[in-house]
Amino acid sequence: MAGYRRQLYRDDAVVLRVQKLGESDRIITLLTRRHGRLRAVARGIRRTTSKFGARLEPFGHVDLQLAGDPKGNLGSSLHTVSQVEGIDLYGKRFLGDYPRYTAASAIAETAERLTPVEREPSLRLFQLTVGALKALSRGEHATTLVLDAYLLRGMALAGWAPALIACAVCGTPGRHRAFSVPAGGAVCPDCRPPGAAHPAPATIDLMSALTTGDWVIADATETGVRRECSGLVAAHLQWHLERALRSLPLVDRGSSAAGTVPPPGGAGAAMLRPHGDVEAGADGASRERAE
Ligand SMILES: [Zn+2]
Repeated sequence: MAGYRRQLYRDDAVVLRVQKLGESDRIITLLTRRHGRLRAVARGIRRTTSKFGARLEPFGHVDLQLAGDPKGNLGSSLHTVSQVEGIDLYGKRFLGDYPRYTAASAIAETAERLTPVEREPSLRLFQLTVGALKALSRGEHATTLVLDAYLLRGMALAGWAPALIACAVCGTPGRHRAFSVPAGGAVCPDCRPPGAAHPAPATIDLMSALTTGDWVIADATETGVRRECSGLVAAHLQWHLERALRSLPLVDRGSSAAGTVPPPGGAGAAMLRPHGDVEAGADGASRERAE
């Protein structure tokens, strides 16, 4: 350990992932405000006397004291959690709420994939991630809208937002009707490649509204438009990621509007909604299955 000194430092972070390490320890993947994404060991987390356990659950916003080299130049890449305080433990509010839990999982997985290099600070992605989890927990907007807004803005931070108000190929301004993921978004009639999709104009408008945070427009959209938007956002994201997101296909897309009937036997169909109402009467079979 010559020349290597572990320093103590503080930061706040979102817990992206928790993995077992032996019997009682955990490896926590964190997106920190000032030090980018990093992994840290939390020791003794399963002991009943541990003060860490409840605070280091996925999706929580926490204040931490960490031990390690904050620049990561020397020694082990793993830091140790020495103190943790909860700022907002969003994860607790998503338990038992399948649509929000799966959306939070997709947000956390995306945050990890958008930070391929550890300890590379990304303040805007951190703020975007905390904001999305807060919006999910408040429930003021449909879950899928919050998720798609996060994915669109995350892609914008990564430099591959879909073109929406100008042709992705030639840059001609305008609301173009065709959309091509390989071409990079909306395309004009001259540049439209074979196989381009033709989404409803309202779908492109929704993608623009989510990108700019125009919730008045976004909240007023119809279910069909939201579904088409989610499909294009997911396709655009997967095109740019080397491996597909594991959590995205699990997101319950049937919950974005009241009165929507979830797909029969869909994993989300059996979960109780936050206010205790089961979303549709037609899913008695899947409700029974959960009991
Ligand atoms: Zn063009």
